[in-house]
Amino acid sequence: MMELQVYSTVIIGSGPAGLTAALYAARAELKPVVIAGQNPGGQLMQTTEVENFPGFPEGILGPELMANMTKQVERFGAELKQENVVAADFSKQPLVVKTDKTEYRAKTVIIATGADANWLNLPSEQRLRGKGVSACATCDGFFFKGKDVIVAGGGDSAMEEANFLTKFAKTVTIVHRRPEFRASKIMLKRAQDNPKIKFVADATIVEVVGENSVSGVKVKYNQSGTEEVLSAQGLFVAIGHTPAAKIFAAAGVAVDQKGYITVSNHTHTNIDGVFVAGDVNDPRYRQAVTAAGMGCMAALDVEKYLAERE
Ligand code: NAP
Repeated sequence: MMELQVYSTVIIGSGPAGLTAALYAARAELKPVVIAGQNPGGQLMQTTEVENFPGFPEGILGPELMANMTKQVERFGAELKQENVVAADFSKQPLVVKTDKTEYRAKTVIIATGADANWLNLPSEQRLRGKGVSACATCDGFFFKGKDVIVAGGGDSAMEEANFLTKFAKTVTIVHRRPEFRASKIMLKRAQDNPKIKFVADATIVEVVGENSVSGVKVKYNQSGTEEVLSAQGLFVAIGHTPAAKIFAAAGVAVDQKGYITVSNHTHTNIDGVFVAGDVNDPRYRQAVTAAGMGCMAALDVEKYLAERE
């Protein structure tokens, strides 16, 4: 039987964390393999203008930034695989990462799988996903030209989605469950200053109305307990993310109460040879630039780990 190749490092994820780890690992001649997922690029692929990534004074589109990062890592010989990880076995060396197509064996693994959009978890919301309910304004905003849409959430994502949607929609109503907003002042003000955006605060979305398409969103006002159907043809859910760590937790990687992978020492997880970078470890900063920084740190830690053993 042919022996499977053992890679120095396998990097799982192709957002800013994974690709920065790949850049550093490739330049250190570790010949990394990047398991990039079926939809490479991470969360920035669903973003429009990125104004806070240093080095782009005029801003840059999220997908363009990721395309540039991909080109940069490929230039140094990193191998990108458009595969999804389905399981991992970290019980012994070499570490094993199984994908939907094959399996990889490696001395080290960097987990940089990021986080996925949260949903309200209403049956009507799930039934109408792709039929007017979306978690990605960049992907689906175009379909709502001249329509009324609702954005659920009170953080920066909700403000950003709402602003973006005003390019297409007639009106955008942000529905938030508390009276205070979690969004940064600048993002909130931008939304408040936009004449197309209305706010409904201290209200809970209880149902998405419509059979085969969205015709409205039923909200319950928390103070009075009264309910109202806000007429809308679209609902964009922007209520945060969940770390994509389940597969690794099942393989023994320690996670915190919210499912984020924890580190025992810089980017080292509790498992020897398994490192982590980016949003899958970071409920606090969650920025492209911090994820990229952590990707760099993880690759440097991998390099040191391998050097100490070879
Ligand atoms: P977030 O800051 O965690 O905000 C999530 C929002 O959704 C909160 O307002 C929360 O309400 C609400 N929410 C959560 N679960 C809910 C539920 N089940 N039902 C109804 N509402 C719910 O998440 P985010 O807005 O995605 O932002 C994540 C991070 O990315 C932040 O650090 C943010 O600054 C950053 N970000 C930055 C930019 C930018 O600078 N361009 C853009 C987007 C995101 P409560 O407030 O009541 O908890």
